[in-house]
Amino acid sequence: GVRHEPTSKIVLDLERLYDEASEDLAYVARYARAIQQQRGDYNGRVLSIRADDLRALAIVYDASPSGLIERLTEHGVLVADPRAFFAS
Ligand code: C2E
Ligand code: C2E
Ligand code: C2E
Repeated sequence: GVRHEPTSKIVLDLERLYDEASEDLAYVARYARAIQQQRGDYNGRVLSIRADDLRALAIVYDASPSGLIERLTEHGVLVADPRAFFAS
C-alpha cells in the first residue's frame, strides 16, 4: 500500500538533480556527490539522504526543512516512492 508519513524518507532522483542546470540546486547536487563518495554508492539512480543532512542543507538555503522539500519538489528532483519509480 501507499504510505504518506510526514517523516518518510527523502530520496533524490540523481539523474534529474545532476542534469538540472539551475543554480538553485548547486549545493544539493554537491552534497549528494559528497554523500555518494562517503558511502561508495556510485551506481544508484536514486539516493536516500539523512533527515539530519536535509536540516543542514536547509540552513544553507536559509529555509526550513519543509521549505527545502517544497523547493526540491518544484524542481522535480524528489522521488516520492522509490519502488514505484523503478517499476515505471
Ligand atoms: P557512520 O555514520 O559511522 O556509519 C557507518 C555505517 O553504518 C555506514 O557505512 C552504513 O553502512 C551504516 N549506517 C549508518 N547510518 C545509517 C542509516 O541511517 N541507514 C543505513 N541504511 N545505514 C546506516 P557507509 O554507508 O559506508 O558510510 C560510511 C561513513 O560515511 C558513515 O559512517 C558516515 O560517516 C559517512 N556517511 C555516509 N552517508 C552519509 C550521509 O548520508 N550523511 C552523513 N552525514 N554522513 C554519511
Ligand atoms: P526503498 O527504500 O523503497 O528503496 C527502493 C529502491 O530504491 C532500492 O531497492 C534501491 O534500488 C533504491 N534506493 C533507495 N535509496 C537508495 C540509495 O541511497 N542508493 C542507491 N544506490 N539506491 C537506493 P533495493 O536496494 O532493492 O531495496 C529494496 C528495499 O529494501 C528498500 O526499499 C528498503 O525498504 C529496503 N532496504 C534496502 N537497503 C536498505 C537499508 O540500507 N536500510 C533499510 N532500512 N532498508 C533498506
Ligand atoms: P534507513 O536505512 O531506512 O534508516 C532509517 C532511519 O533509521 C535513519 O533515518 C536513522 O534515523 C535510523 N538509522 C538507521 N541506521 C542507523 C545507524 O546505523 N545509526 C543511526 N544513528 N541511525 C540509524 P535517516 O538518518 O534520516 O536516514 C534516512 C535514510 O538515508 C536511511 O534509511 C538510508 O537509506 C540513508 N542513509 C542515511 N545514512 C546512511 C549511511 O551512512 N549510509 C547509507 N548507505 N545510507 C544511509
